[in-house]
Amino acid sequence: MDKIIGFTTTIPSEILFAGGYKPCDLNNIFITDPEPMHFIEKAERDGFPKSMCNWIKGIYGVLMERDIDSVIAVMEGDCSNTQALAEILQFKGIRVIPFSYPYDRDRGVIRREIEKLMGICGVDYERLSSTEKGIEAVREKLREIDRMTWEDRVVTGYENHLWLVRSSDMLGDYGLYSRMAQGFIDEVKKRRPMDGVRIGFIGVPPIVTDLYQFLEGIGGHVVYNETQRQFSMPFKEPHIVERYRIYTYPYGIFSRLHDIKTEIKKRGIKGIIHYVQAFCYRVMEDVILRQILDCPILTIEGELPRPLDARLRLRLEAFVEMLRGQEQ
Ligand code: SF4
Repeated sequence: MDKIIGFTTTIPSEILFAGGYKPCDLNNIFITDPEPMHFIEKAERDGFPKSMCNWIKGIYGVLMERDIDSVIAVMEGDCSNTQALAEILQFKGIRVIPFSYPYDRDRGVIRREIEKLMGICGVDYERLSSTEKGIEAVREKLREIDRMTWEDRVVTGYENHLWLVRSSDMLGDYGLYSRMAQGFIDEVKKRRPMDGVRIGFIGVPPIVTDLYQFLEGIGGHVVYNETQRQFSMPFKEPHIVERYRIYTYPYGIFSRLHDIKTEIKKRGIKGIIHYVQAFCYRVMEDVILRQILDCPILTIEGELPRPLDARLRLRLEAFVEMLRGQEQ
């Protein structure tokens, strides 16, 4: 069986696959568990404070429970808590492999980080290249699922979210993921187009469990999932260094704005939901987003992996109603 390597956010998974490892996005294990709260409770029993992001506690809880002894921790470009988390994991005997995305997108630094990871996984450029071809074929299918969401309108916002967010590790088997994606495409081709006001979703993937379903129930259709789409590498860039340089998520708000503005226009988006996670430093990005995007924005904050509470439901209803009113 392939050896599993966990990671805290999207890293160049093609290197892990090429080295014969099974990449595992710890966020996905946490959030898709039938009882994700138990990971958070484990972290809190071990001393993690209540006033801290629950994604971090979830990752920790997963690692304490599952048999994963190596983790790639993204020290720069993701989360301000990762360094402390990495230290705790190291203390617990887990091998931590640091990886960084430099804030200034310096090509030389990205190359060094990528080649360092290649060295750790025993991969050279020749070996990488055949794996990249297989992975590009999957990413092409994910681009098609994304296009079918906003153009053909036969894919729900939740399905779009799920397919793109899982692309970070492709469930540890990109051949299988490719076949699953093709099966999905064949199935949704037969659907009738959906209506519903076109909504864009920006920010980190939501921890709340029923956001998309609720939005669709009240007449909204999420046709753009910003971060999840970035995880799927939506651009055809053959060189790995450039690919992870164009990728916007780790390089701060200014690198993301161009992508967000382009997609709002292209997809005919009428309103943006900016999701922020309680106790996350990224909440502050809202200040800039509100001044730059010329589209109605609703900012919502989630904390626990639970359904929306009554207050959030009311705010979402009012927002979708306002957007629908503007369409008439
Ligand atoms: S939501 Fe924010 S604080 Fe939580 S893991 Fe992500 S970046 Fe870190």
